[in-house]
Amino acid sequence: MSAEAVILLGAPGAGKGTMAEGIREAGNFIHVSTGDMLREAVKAGTPLGREAESFMSKGMLVPDETILKIVRERLSHGGAEAHYLFDGFPRTLAQARGLDAELSASGVTLKTVLLLDVPPALSVQRLTGRRICRQCGANYHVQNIPPRRAGVCDVCGGELYQRLDDRRETILKRLEVFQEQTAGLIAYYHERGQLQRVDSSGPREATVAEIIKRLQ
Ligand code: AMP
Repeated sequence: MSAEAVILLGAPGAGKGTMAEGIREAGNFIHVSTGDMLREAVKAGTPLGREAESFMSKGMLVPDETILKIVRERLSHGGAEAHYLFDGFPRTLAQARGLDAELSASGVTLKTVLLLDVPPALSVQRLTGRRICRQCGANYHVQNIPPRRAGVCDVCGGELYQRLDDRRETILKRLEVFQEQTAGLIAYYHERGQLQRVDSSGPREATVAEIIKRLQ
């Protein structure tokens, strides 16, 4: 078997991180979330983190070259049979082209691009209620996926927190940025016959099951 990649594309709040968590094991995927990588860098206070934070806190995109550099670095460790699951990357045409070049240079086939489709009002509802475990990164929602004990992770007992960029005004900015800079990728992958649309507005388990079926 050769190396393959799947891209999860969708607006903020479409459920990319949640779906990645649900399907990761089904395909033995290496989860590549540029958002998670950047948040780790911010937490560690590295030069990358300091650069990224100024964009992330405003709901803006981190520059393409910086993103391509961290993805390139991650791909260099994957191995010949790796299955990559890209979540939140690519987000611009330049990133998509950079990824194409990178994949062909490393002999990785782009298997499919899954567009997670949700209406904007649902994105806002999901993001304002989202809570994340500080320790293991598990995702919750105060109404849709509540933890057994408020503020505590079911998986590891870690503390749950709200991302700074999940404040309402930043969410609206992120949705605007998606329309302006990322939505063009839908046509890009559609024209190449690589795009599959998945309704991501229903319950988590139903969408996970649908995606796993499509990946088989
Ligand atoms: P996410 O966790 O995917 O919602 O990403 C959170 C934030 O990280 C975004 O709002 C951007 O500021 C930044 N970010 C994550 N991935 C990318 C990317 N591929 N290109 C540019 N910025 C990104």
